Amino acid sequence: MNQRTFLYQLQIIDHDLDKNGKRLLEIQDQLAFNKDLNQIEHEISSLESEKKSQNQKLKKISDEANTIQDKITKSEQSLYDGSIKNPKQLQDVNFEIDSLKKRMAVLDEQQLEFLFLIDSLDDQLKLKEESLSTLIGRKNDQKKIYQIEIDELEKTIKKLNIDKNPIMNQIEDSYLETYEKLRKTKNKIAVSLIIDNACSICGNGLPPMEVQKAKSSIDELFCPVCKRFLYSG
Ligand SMILES: [Zn+2]
Repeated sequence: MNQRTFLYQLQIIDHDLDKNGKRLLEIQDQLAFNKDLNQIEHEISSLESEKKSQNQKLKKISDEANTIQDKITKSEQSLYDGSIKNPKQLQDVNFEIDSLKKRMAVLDEQQLEFLFLIDSLDDQLKLKEESLSTLIGRKNDQKKIYQIEIDELEKTIKKLNIDKNPIMNQIEDSYLETYEKLRKTKNKIAVSLIIDNACSICGNGLPPMEVQKAKSSIDELFCPVCKRFLYSG
């Protein structure tokens, strides 16, 4: 067999190796894609820190409310336990209680607002956590399916490399070098099949003598137009 025959056989295997290798890379890219997961995790962490901050504000208001409530209780006690006898003083204490109660009403209102806000943050957090767990589940299922494909691809690549060895052994270094160069510069096709007396890649028609040559044992035969090896099959 001439060198062109081995090169053509090599090209078929290299084409399959490229195809399988490309798919393997695509899958690895898909598996490494975590932008969607990171996005949800980031949103959850933002909501959690927002909730923490609102809880701290609520705590501050609630502490102030407790202090004021204590003051109101003490002042009211002092009104009834007879410890204050002076009418001016009694009036002052009544004023103070009124003003404390007004402040208390404002704080109560604020506490309700914060409770409402925190409640709504809890709802949002719950939804995000559900989305996260759904996404993780989906990714795990996908991973299992991809793993089956990876195993198949690796098996195929291994077999192709085993098949490639004996063919490589038949090819002389200088032809292999030309083949590699052509594959690099000519869209990965170094050997063109002759179909209907024409180069099947560039379409150039070939005179009968060239077609005859392609069928002979001659090693070096190139398409005059696209400069690829010609092989007649
Ligand atoms: Zn051609």
